Amino acid sequence: MGGRQVRFETGAVLVLLLVWLALPWLGHARSVDAGRDYLLVGTATAEPTPHRACTPAMLAGPRQQTRVNAPPEGWSGEPQALDVFNVFAGEVRLQHGDREICGNMQDARTRDSRFRAGIGMVAVPAAGSHEPFLVSWQTPLKARWVPTLQLGAPSPVQQNDTARLLVRAACIAVAIALALSALMAYLTTRDRSFLMYIGATLVLVLWQSILGGLSGYPEPWLRVGGRGDWWLLALTAATQALVLPAMWRLNGGDRVLPRSRVAQQLVLWSLLMLAAVVPWLQRDGLGVVAQILQGTFVVGCALSLAMGIWARLRGDVWSLAGLAALAPMLVLIVADAASAHWLMEYRVEALQLAVTWLLMMAAYALNLRLGRLRQQRDEMRQLAETDMLTGLPNRRAGLHQLAQHLQGGERERGPLVIGFLDIDLFKDINDRHGHEVGDQVLVAVARALRAAVRSEDQVVRMGGEEFLLLLPGMPREIAAARLERLRQRITETCRDLQVPGLEVTASIGLAQWRPAEDDLAALLRRADHAMYVAKRSGRNRVFDGETEDPLTTA
Ligand code: GH3
Ligand code: MG
Ligand code: MG
Repeated sequence: MGGRQVRFETGAVLVLLLVWLALPWLGHARSVDAGRDYLLVGTATAEPTPHRACTPAMLAGPRQQTRVNAPPEGWSGEPQALDVFNVFAGEVRLQHGDREICGNMQDARTRDSRFRAGIGMVAVPAAGSHEPFLVSWQTPLKARWVPTLQLGAPSPVQQNDTARLLVRAACIAVAIALALSALMAYLTTRDRSFLMYIGATLVLVLWQSILGGLSGYPEPWLRVGGRGDWWLLALTAATQALVLPAMWRLNGGDRVLPRSRVAQQLVLWSLLMLAAVVPWLQRDGLGVVAQILQGTFVVGCALSLAMGIWARLRGDVWSLAGLAALAPMLVLIVADAASAHWLMEYRVEALQLAVTWLLMMAAYALNLRLGRLRQQRDEMRQLAETDMLTGLPNRRAGLHQLAQHLQGGERERGPLVIGFLDIDLFKDINDRHGHEVGDQVLVAVARALRAAVRSEDQVVRMGGEEFLLLLPGMPREIAAARLERLRQRITETCRDLQVPGLEVTASIGLAQWRPAEDDLAALLRRADHAMYVAKRSGRNRVFDGETEDPLTTA
């Protein structure tokens, strides 16, 4: 019931979402004239090319600048593209001759469609001239996070810019896909850890959007404004609050050091508090926060690495996923310390790919854990429903199966006959031959019963020396004959045990389900009663409780 409800609601939400996404297109479709062999969209513009000019407010605060000089022989006369990457906050100002533009990570660049991952400009310096490009940017909070300036022919520079944009968008798309798949997993399992995963993934999506400038694309959808530094730092702190404990846990921290949970909580809440105070800080404070975050990240990764290795040495196979998740982060830390060229050039893409990898590993670990929990649950259920001595389903499982048969109804499954079997004078067998022989008899009886019934029949050990047989879809007369043969088979099988003087017989009561008037308890009571009639009329026989007509054998 509950499951169906949830599925219905999920379906309804998805349909509404699709309708909402489709609405703009529906409106659009109406404006298309039928019978035309092309489609013109948009209208003529009166806007000048929207290169954003720089204002003094944009250029306030500490800045750095450089000039990109012409080659010694002067410019060739061909167009030159200059694209500036990895400036995360503030305005980048590009100047060449009397052309000047400003752009930042969040304003969809300079609205110059040729540059999306960086802030770029194309100029055509006169052949032989030496007019340099002037570039300035806001001083980065982290000394190592220097901008990358790419100079070249417009086409390759723009291709590189587009490739970067695609990688950034792809990482975000993968993160969203992982979050959606975690949502599905949560809806089917109700396992809270999937909700945590979704929350963390969404924070990482926001962080990636601001880091890579996708928050301003195609139109600014996150109003970062001039506060790129604040946003980025606050989200970095929040990201670390989630990523560091996750990496620790992935590396076996929880399993090897259960008491570290307190420390994890402490790290999580301190970092979240740091994220919360960021908006109130001035530039100096932000610099300090950036340093703290850098340090926390390095220490956190180092601790996770140590934990992963230790857990691995102690035979914890799960920590392999943790070490794999950590690997790209460690590479980034080392490359950053060594000021590696490739990292300086592709910092955003490298960070996003590492985070995406981490998210994938975390999803993998979550699913592994879920699989393990399911397996444990299945094993527990199996144990709880199996009789240890005979391997038959126990009373609890037997009653459950009987109830299911009754729910299925006679129309679907045909008649249902049950037999209630009790070994005769079993106490005497125990007393005379010992408890161990008694056990052997029980096992032999279980084996004989199991071997003699059809695959759709059920044999249940109800307790002690009592067994229940479920014979669905079998007419009563045939069932009675079948039970009679079973009774004989038991005696024969127990003779095979070759215990001198051991003679095993059983009494069986038969009852048939009466769909109109019966419930489970009444059916069992009649079978039990029939069995007692069999006992009272001399044991070692089947009594059909529905005929009141004992089928007697000597
Ligand atoms: P009746 O013919 O009237 O059924 O007599 P009975 O001796 O079989 O009946 P009763 O219910 O008095 O005795 C059942 C005995 O089964 C008592 C108990 O010690 C024994 N028993 C129950 N479970 C086990 C078991 O798992 N192993 C062994 N060896 N004996 C068991
Ligand atoms: Mg008994
Ligand atoms: Mg008995």
